[in-house]
Amino acid sequence: MSLQEIKDRIAQAEKDAGRAAGSVHLIAVSKVQPNERVQAVLEQGHRCFGENKVQEAAGKWPAFKEIFPGIDLHLIGPLQSNKTRQAMDLFDAIHSVDRPKLAKAIARIAQEEGNCPDLFVQVNSGEEEQKAGVLPADADAFIADCLSMDLPVKGLMCIPPVDEEPSLHFALLAKIAARNGLTGLSMGMSSDFERAIALGATHVRVGSAIFGARVAG
Ligand SMILES: *Cc1c(COP(=O)(O)O)cnc(C)c1O
Repeated sequence: MSLQEIKDRIAQAEKDAGRAAGSVHLIAVSKVQPNERVQAVLEQGHRCFGENKVQEAAGKWPAFKEIFPGIDLHLIGPLQSNKTRQAMDLFDAIHSVDRPKLAKAIARIAQEEGNCPDLFVQVNSGEEEQKAGVLPADADAFIADCLSMDLPVKGLMCIPPVDEEPSLHFALLAKIAARNGLTGLSMGMSSDFERAIALGATHVRVGSAIFGARVAG
């Protein structure tokens, strides 16, 4: 599939859901993709990208940023506290805020540096052992904590369990966001972004449908 096809499908899904054109941001997930595939998407004018590892992103994006102005880079994978500063320097948004220790580290560095990326609180909507994110039952308290530290929380993020109907998780995320007064919803990937848009996604994270299958590794 191509970037344009995905953009067309997003536009159609916005329309079908009765939502304004352009209300959904497409984060092109470029993790593990060869640089020439990423460059091809940059050359088509796309500027919003997602990576799941700080180290990998630090190895490729500074060079792209010099050539292509206006890049909007999103961290969508887990963040270790000791990489917080590096992540805040490199990324425009962090979608994986999921624990008090990390929130405090971000707040401290934001104070020092006088700015902070947009933040999304990750919710472990399927309550999976191996997955990052706050549990749904702990979400309200954690969001309140983050807001009390003046963190720029824009919304929530989730990654539904692979073997479940994602719409249930998207609906749960939307409900938690609404009752906490948050408008951003980072949800939906290659296989389910249209369903996410129907349930209010503002940021879809699409990788393989744009770039092709990821090379194992
Ligand atoms: C890899 C990844 C994606 C993109 O997955 P695709 O199925 O390739 O679209 C989205 N979100 C997160 C958190 C990811 O790690």
